Amino acid sequence: MVNPVNNRRKGLMLDKHSIYPPLSLAVIAALTPGHWDVEIHDENFEPFKFQEADLVGFTSLTATINRCYEIAKEYRKNKIPTVIGGIHASMLPQEAGQYIDAVVIGEAKEIWSKVIHDVEHSRLEKYYRAKLPSMVNTPSPRIDLYHPGYEFGSVQTTRGCPMTCEFCSVHTFNGSKYRLRPVDQSINDFAALPHERVYIVDDNFVGYSKKARNHAVDFFKGIVERGAQKNWAGSASMNIADDEEVLEWAAKSGCKLVFLGIESELIDQLEQANKYVNIKIGVDKYRQVYDMIHKYEINVMGAFIYGLDNDTPETIYNRTSYILDADIDIMQATILTPLPGTHLYNRFKENNQLLYTNYPEDWERYNYIEVVFKPQKMSADEFQQSAYENWERLYDLQNLKKKFLKTLKITKNPTTAVWAFSSNLHMHNSVFEDEQNLLDLQKIFPQLLDKIE
Ligand code: SF4
Repeated sequence: MVNPVNNRRKGLMLDKHSIYPPLSLAVIAALTPGHWDVEIHDENFEPFKFQEADLVGFTSLTATINRCYEIAKEYRKNKIPTVIGGIHASMLPQEAGQYIDAVVIGEAKEIWSKVIHDVEHSRLEKYYRAKLPSMVNTPSPRIDLYHPGYEFGSVQTTRGCPMTCEFCSVHTFNGSKYRLRPVDQSINDFAALPHERVYIVDDNFVGYSKKARNHAVDFFKGIVERGAQKNWAGSASMNIADDEEVLEWAAKSGCKLVFLGIESELIDQLEQANKYVNIKIGVDKYRQVYDMIHKYEINVMGAFIYGLDNDTPETIYNRTSYILDADIDIMQATILTPLPGTHLYNRFKENNQLLYTNYPEDWERYNYIEVVFKPQKMSADEFQQSAYENWERLYDLQNLKKKFLKTLKITKNPTTAVWAFSSNLHMHNSVFEDEQNLLDLQKIFPQLLDKIE
């Protein structure tokens, strides 16, 4: 199995201190019958080289899909079957089918045994359409196959999202029904990880129903009861602040960072993007959300978008000022990216706003750092330049140090503050990919780290 990396080496999550292991491949490996030997080749650590195999499997996001097709070409030349799953191939199965022998559309859990059976009988089909499976009895991932260089482990406790944000394909790929992995299985997965820090990769670990929030609380309590606490990060909607019991148990189990999709401080943009949960909270109440999370010594990671409808260089500048001034510890601001399978992509296509459509090559540009569409109120060049200028402001070292001290003051937790500072450095390194601009935590803050340690 191959975990590919974008050829341009651009985009988020390329810094080795912030990447996390390919969980979906480790689950597929666990679903593969025991008479197969499975290996994961991970381009996060070294470029893939051709190696003999009986079957080669890929998972891929949009920005890495071209690399998959490139690797698959070598195998197809040698008559070795290839199969692909994951979000991009599920959204564009016809495209994937041109470059890969078999395409699994949807979550592979219940159909993987048929794929393997068909490979063993030399009758691989072109398309396998999977139904949305339950998360009950999904085997624990083969974490023994991960590259040992990962600093974070990863766990998934829920899937699906009932929301319909315009730029997101989660509800199309994972469905709008919120599915829960049994608590004891999630605790086992969490406890088994050898890593000191963990990402809970759910799109929203707390959900929107009583059942979902009880599931989250039981999971956190279970970690505490088992004495398996370790520092972890995860994504939630802003409604997490409505429920102190969730935050209390999250903190007790080791939560140090909550990722919030804030997107914008302007209500009309939230409405356009259909970011319903933030509209319901109310822009003027955001501050209370940050305060509540901080009360439990947890970082707020705020994810914002540059380039929403009506954005101009001026509104982007104002958004950056908001992010710098607000009590947001970890700052993420990325370029609006119309991924296939989203309503946004369809809208931009209909309006002829897409700038790069020489697919699959151009998918590499869909990496949240490059402008790939024509904005309404500025030129694409103006927008790209404005984004770089604002990233320079956002991730200026003096600003990062100010943020660090503020987080330390608010949370009074050095571990939380150091995590925030290092995450901001990783964000900096993700947008400024050239070596000279990369910042290194140890070099910047050695005395401070010594003091805290
Ligand atoms: S952005 Fe978050 S809340 Fe919106 S649809 Fe995607 S996963 Fe759901």
